[in-house]
Amino acid sequence: MSSELSVKIRNITVGGGAPVSVQSMTNVSSRDEDALIRQIEELQEAGCQIVRISIPDEESAETLAKVRKRTEMPLVADIHFDHRLAIKAVNAGADKIRINPGNIGSDEKVREVVRAAKDAGIPIRVGVNSGSLEKNILERFGGVTAEGLCESAVRNLERLEDMGFDDLVVSLKSSDVAMNYEATRLVSMRTPHPIHIGVTEAGTLRRGIMKSAVGIGALLMAGIGDTMRVSLTADPVREVRLAQDILEAAGLREKAYDLVSCPTCGRTEIDLVSLAEEVDGALAGMSLRPGIKIAVMGCVVNGPGEARSADYGVAGGKGKGVIFSRGEILRTVPEKDIVAELVRAIREGESGK
Ligand code: SF4
Repeated sequence: MSSELSVKIRNITVGGGAPVSVQSMTNVSSRDEDALIRQIEELQEAGCQIVRISIPDEESAETLAKVRKRTEMPLVADIHFDHRLAIKAVNAGADKIRINPGNIGSDEKVREVVRAAKDAGIPIRVGVNSGSLEKNILERFGGVTAEGLCESAVRNLERLEDMGFDDLVVSLKSSDVAMNYEATRLVSMRTPHPIHIGVTEAGTLRRGIMKSAVGIGALLMAGIGDTMRVSLTADPVREVRLAQDILEAAGLREKAYDLVSCPTCGRTEIDLVSLAEEVDGALAGMSLRPGIKIAVMGCVVNGPGEARSADYGVAGGKGKGVIFSRGEILRTVPEKDIVAELVRAIREGESGK
């Protein structure tokens, strides 16, 4: 149930049945051209498809024009309050702008922004946040509510539609996962425009991972959302990795590989937690057959049998590890060689496929 309408952000289609795209936001200075390019390249490497840059002042808008010339990454300019900066960002080559029409001001100012976007042929994301709800909506709905967020988003979309503009994306974000879910669900029933999903101010890494996995995951599982941003108080590369993990877990993107590991028990005689992390790190650097399943198990007695469905695996013992494939034991290796030997078994086994 992707959105009916679609927009194009440079080479990426959002909505209309296109796969859910992953975006992130730079956190280096928007005035530092080289730092922006470096971060955009890192994000691209991690699988990011659209990058948003905040444009707080003129110098940032000028930097955006320079960055535009050095990357093909679709760039979104994030603008608050100042319609002239929005127009400058459009002229600097932004592929989309994100505004909250409510804080841009008068109809005439919003109209100028709309005209610039229309002339450039780029979409606008109408972004509504729980922290910036209009006073009359707060009064009508008795504070910040999902219904109020939805109402504000619909009104802002209509405001732009009434100006003859419909190249639109909408987002509603709250740091309250349940409210975020309900507001986005309500707006998905009231608009055909593509929906950008995410949980705002998700918090530190641990909390952010949990809030985003539940908040974004629930929406995706309900078929809602055309593009997504995970928001973490951490390196944005982590946001992109987590976004891919959420898409994989929701079944919307093929897993690069599936790593299964046992919960450990009294039979475990090896540091399985570290071993599983090490194996995961080694696999991440390999080019693998999509969907391949690798197991990291705690004991030789039950490990290979319990993980019979795994293409390859290791079962730990005291100071050693047993490498197996589809339940069959291949060889026993010293503990220090486990990861290298597992990688070798995968390479050998896969070379003829
Ligand atoms: Fe315990 Fe072995 Fe099963 Fe892991 S594989 S849970 S160590 S019995």
